[in-house]
Amino acid sequence: MSAAVASTALLSLEEARAQMLDGLEPLPAEEVDLNDADGRVVAESITSRLTLPPWDNSAMDGFAVRATDVSTASPDAPVTLPVVGEAAAGRVATAAVQPGTTMRILTGAPLPAGADAVVRVEDTNAVMGASELPAEVAIRQSVDPGAHIRRQGGDLREGQPLLETGTQLTATALALAAAAGYGRLRVHRRPRLAVLATGDELVPPGVVLGPGQIPDSNSVGLAALARATGAETRSLGISRDTLDDVLGQLRDGLAWADVIVASGGVSVGAHDVVKDAFAAIGRVELWRVAVQPGKPLAFGRASATGRDGDVLLFGLPGNPVSSQVTFELFVRPVLRRLSGHQDLFGRQVVRARLDRAVSKSPGRRAFLRVRLAEEAGGWRASLAGGQESHMLSALAAADGLAIVPEEHDSLPAGADVDVIRIR
Ligand code: AMP
Ligand code: MG
Repeated sequence: MSAAVASTALLSLEEARAQMLDGLEPLPAEEVDLNDADGRVVAESITSRLTLPPWDNSAMDGFAVRATDVSTASPDAPVTLPVVGEAAAGRVATAAVQPGTTMRILTGAPLPAGADAVVRVEDTNAVMGASELPAEVAIRQSVDPGAHIRRQGGDLREGQPLLETGTQLTATALALAAAAGYGRLRVHRRPRLAVLATGDELVPPGVVLGPGQIPDSNSVGLAALARATGAETRSLGISRDTLDDVLGQLRDGLAWADVIVASGGVSVGAHDVVKDAFAAIGRVELWRVAVQPGKPLAFGRASATGRDGDVLLFGLPGNPVSSQVTFELFVRPVLRRLSGHQDLFGRQVVRARLDRAVSKSPGRRAFLRVRLAEEAGGWRASLAGGQESHMLSALAAADGLAIVPEEHDSLPAGADVDVIRIR
């Protein structure tokens, strides 16, 4: 262990997080096709390249008219007009609508010159969807000027702000960018996160277990969390509890990853070699944080040749619940910073009433796995199952992490707590 972390004092969650985020910048921008941009974060604000709609057009299938020509039209006294042509989407009508005439028009077609309103086909004697153009049409309804017309610029104006730096691209944001004239966007590169499981007892999931063996569930869970946070992931496999094995696999990760997340082997046991491995390839900056679950947690950095910045090294505890909760608390904000998010958490926190008394370790901030339910006047939080750090089923059943502050050793039923919504 490096001298900087020789002290055994526990760091607060905020101190640890600040150290991890210290000096961390979003990853460089790259230009990607809109189809590859979902979930990415905009690296440069953009404005609309187009005015939308680009011209006045029809909101309906019907007939383009001069409103004054049909001002007396009613079901009992229709006005019959000759149909002089058709305006369809994708074509610009060459002729104008002269007084006393009309033109058939289809939804989205540019409004022909001369016309100032559209009469819906339903308000005429024309057959809906007919392919043949009728010679004349009886209009059964008067319309005001502007009726059923989508105005040029009614949606967007060229030059209008469209997407701000830091916006995460949703389906609608992507559709908006396409409509506004963009085929590609500048977004931050995705963080690359490599996962390493450490432990002599671990075998890949799905394999028949030998004596004393358990499936490596952390690699799957942590990689999925990382992808859900916008990262690309790779597995570095399972390493034995030896310094050489862990080091070899970490070095593989250094060649590719921005962030390496190891699980297990970070405590004080004789086989806990992860901190030593971090120290051998870089430096350990902190170890042990006052949270529950997840106290034994190491963080460090390593510089790798040919890389922009340092590779961030997380040694998360091996217990499955601890590894996932510490990922949520520490790795997630780091990935969000690298991805270009301005809000590093992106989680809703609600105030909820505990439905039973709870207890925890003194001096640490606890994150209880709870289920939230709405009740009159707010939220109720119920424990989602056993709270020990190996109880993955309780975490799987939870939709929130209820925070019990350091200064409480227990809380009575009915106490109000903050709950981080994790689903
Ligand atoms: P450790 O942090 O290495 O002391 O491990 C603590 C507990 O977590 C032990 O019961 C380990 O067997 C278990 N554990 C460690 N790594 C994993 C993993 N990748 N998947 C599932 N359980 C694990
Ligand atoms: Mg272990």
